[in-house]
Amino acid sequence: MRATMFYTIMPDGTVKQVNPFTGNEVWAVPGRRNKPLGNGKPVPAVPLEVHSPEDYCSFCPPRYFETPPEKSRLIVRNDRWEMIDTLPPDQYAETVAEFRRVGNMFEIVTLDYWRKNYAYKIPASRLKWREDYMANAAGFKHINDIITYKAMQEGRTEQQVAKLPMTERLAMADAFFGGGHELVIAKRHYRVDAKLESELFASGDMSLEEHFQYFRFTIAALADIARNNRYVRYVSVFQNWLRPAGASFDHLHKQLVALDEWGSSIENQVRMLRDDRNVFNEYGANFALHHNLVFAENDHAIAFVGIGHRFPTIEVYSRSQAGRPDEHSDEEIRGMSNLVHSIHAAMGNEISCNEEWYYTPIDAVYKMPWHILIKLRINVPAGFEGGTSIFINPMTPIELRDKIVPHLYTLRDQNKIDRIRIAEECRVDPNPLKYYLK
Ligand SMILES: [Zn+2]
Repeated sequence: MRATMFYTIMPDGTVKQVNPFTGNEVWAVPGRRNKPLGNGKPVPAVPLEVHSPEDYCSFCPPRYFETPPEKSRLIVRNDRWEMIDTLPPDQYAETVAEFRRVGNMFEIVTLDYWRKNYAYKIPASRLKWREDYMANAAGFKHINDIITYKAMQEGRTEQQVAKLPMTERLAMADAFFGGGHELVIAKRHYRVDAKLESELFASGDMSLEEHFQYFRFTIAALADIARNNRYVRYVSVFQNWLRPAGASFDHLHKQLVALDEWGSSIENQVRMLRDDRNVFNEYGANFALHHNLVFAENDHAIAFVGIGHRFPTIEVYSRSQAGRPDEHSDEEIRGMSNLVHSIHAAMGNEISCNEEWYYTPIDAVYKMPWHILIKLRINVPAGFEGGTSIFINPMTPIELRDKIVPHLYTLRDQNKIDRIRIAEECRVDPNPLKYYLK
């Protein structure tokens, strides 16, 4: 493969790009760009009706019983972060959850999928948790309430729900305890002291420590999901921020979905690794270095603008020798977290985006580096993608880089992000990713 086929700047300024890993063909056409980083529409200043405590949605703290039972929560006690697994429901209110991990009430890949296709059985520890939960009066009420809610959301009438036999109710509840589609929910809905409805609490509003704990907690969930289901080959991890990115809640959360395959994108990446172990340096980091697309880094991670994406996309790669997030040391996780945090902070909370994690699948023998794509959902399709498979991206990679960098300098001066290296401060050693060693 020749690098020039992936990235061509035409005399008129059109940037033609092919993503080396997906084959996506994308153009950034002059005249369609020069927009601010957001979608250009001013956000109306709607005053927020302040509630204390925050109870704006089902993910807000006083509404713990509107989500499925809590698999785990992260609290701060005596200035220390502490994880509590399967907290009894009558104790939910005794501590404040900084982050909570719960089943998704409406699973994409359902518990039944695993049962019917693999004869999956919920492990004994999870069955014991279910038993204890149902034996607890608060737990019994909680489960009945959310089953009623779920059944009605799925189109049943109140009378039909009331007639549901207990066996069916229990079967519905199984997914809350043994399913593999989960949410990790942050505590806040709005920023501290928010006065406007637009002041939602986003990833970039966290402190460095909070964001690191958010990452580590998500990684613990990822490992636990795999541990509880031997048929899982990959756990998809993503964060959809705001409705254009597919979020159904404006309250910050990540999702994890257990899968029995890798998906075609990772299949393809693993195929490339088989031919060339260094492919993520060659067509990722080194390529970005040569084209001046690297704009931030620290000792454990590197960030650059990706090419050949339908949406303006930033790619953050771990430099670790490990290929899976749960094989990273805390320091390495912190490095990834700090860089991702700085990008979210630079974008602000008003740009809708997807954060997607990629890493070496559970059953892969070829190691790929853990990397995170942040896709800015600021453009609408141009209309001819369907017929041509050419996608129009509203911003060239260089423009995206140049819009992010000034924000990073400002935020670093204000101590709102980590002391990362920015733009020309970045080192330019070739092969910065070390996953291929060992
Ligand atoms: Zn909320």
